[in-house]
Amino acid sequence: MIEPTRETTTDFPILKQRVNDEPLVYLDNAATAQKPTAVVAALTHFYEHDNANVHRGVHTLAERATSDYEAARQKAQRFIHAAEPAEVIFTKGTTDGLNLVASTYGEQHVQAGDEIVISIMEHHSNLIPWQQLALRKHATLKYIRLTADGELDMADARAKITPRTKIVAIAHASNVLGVINPLKELAHLAHQNGAILVGDGAQAAPHIAVDVQDLDCDFYALSGHKMMGPTGIGVLYGKRALLDATDPYQYGGEMIDFVHQQDSTWTQLPWKFEAGTQNIAGAIGLGAAIDYLTDYGMDRVAAHEQQLVDYLLPKLLALPGVTVFGPHDPAKHTGVIAFNLDGIHPHDVATALDMEGIAVRAGHHCAQPLMAYLHQVATARASFYLYNTLDDADRLLTAIQETKEFFN
Ligand code: PLP
Repeated sequence: MIEPTRETTTDFPILKQRVNDEPLVYLDNAATAQKPTAVVAALTHFYEHDNANVHRGVHTLAERATSDYEAARQKAQRFIHAAEPAEVIFTKGTTDGLNLVASTYGEQHVQAGDEIVISIMEHHSNLIPWQQLALRKHATLKYIRLTADGELDMADARAKITPRTKIVAIAHASNVLGVINPLKELAHLAHQNGAILVGDGAQAAPHIAVDVQDLDCDFYALSGHKMMGPTGIGVLYGKRALLDATDPYQYGGEMIDFVHQQDSTWTQLPWKFEAGTQNIAGAIGLGAAIDYLTDYGMDRVAAHEQQLVDYLLPKLLALPGVTVFGPHDPAKHTGVIAFNLDGIHPHDVATALDMEGIAVRAGHHCAQPLMAYLHQVATARASFYLYNTLDDADRLLTAIQETKEFFN
């Protein structure tokens, strides 16, 4: 059974509130996660004691800020098992990281007639950058289909990834279907065909242990705010050889070696990709979130969420008039559960659940091509994290039943 979590009682004060006269049940973690007090304290400590710009000053505060910022990079490196800190670039988040790859590596390597392969389950952040790159370059964008179960169809992946493919970009975990995609196998397929594999880690890095070297990803992007860090900070991992051979994304302070009137040269990795004053506090806050998750244990996070899915999914599927998207086997389903209730618009479902103090998301989840593929306009979505409990799952089930009764 799930242990009572010390986390909910002390580490996440935001969860100890009432919403619409009911104790809050926060099930919108795929949109953004709540922050433990340790992350808030790290931000406060930085601004109250160490605030200065990094890599610029020799004074004590500047040195402290620089050392904390670079320590956060090392924490991120260890968290995703990158080979060295130089392969960890701080970004604004997953969207920023994926746009960086499309606008630099993609711009340099994709030519007319080339192919880019993504999947039909991609979030717009891992779709539009490739779509627009393909349009600019007169390249072709191909979509890997799903199996009937809502998993990535690997037979289709094998057919679509060919020697014409230059980039394969796939979500490590879906923000709608609750599946984990076989990135390692996809990286192997991509490499066999001379392409690179870009992993969208937004929904995976917060929930499962990630080893970018084992996955053999060429690039991997994640968002700090979905893993209990602040908003506006993320990480882009890239293999050193690729990053070294890739032009900068943006130009300005701190990314240069020498600037002459008519030409400039660039500094070394990772700072070549970090033009301008970075989100220093955000990086330090993300470092605190990584400490928190590491201390808790990523295997424990995954096991905790699996217990919730094992408990909730069969009960949800047993309710008449409920459609669950993605695999129905709990062992294949992550803690992201998208569902619809017959005849009730998902926005009405989300509003009814909010009246019971339960926060879920409703909408197209930034995955309009997937919605069209599933013949849905929108879905409701409950998404779990380490502070959620069996009681939260029960509250959701009861509120769904009440919503069905109210509307029918
Ligand atoms: N990719 C996936 C699978 C996501 O779920 C999200 C956010 O929901 C993103 C990318 C974009 O993340 P961000 O908005 O933090 O850049």
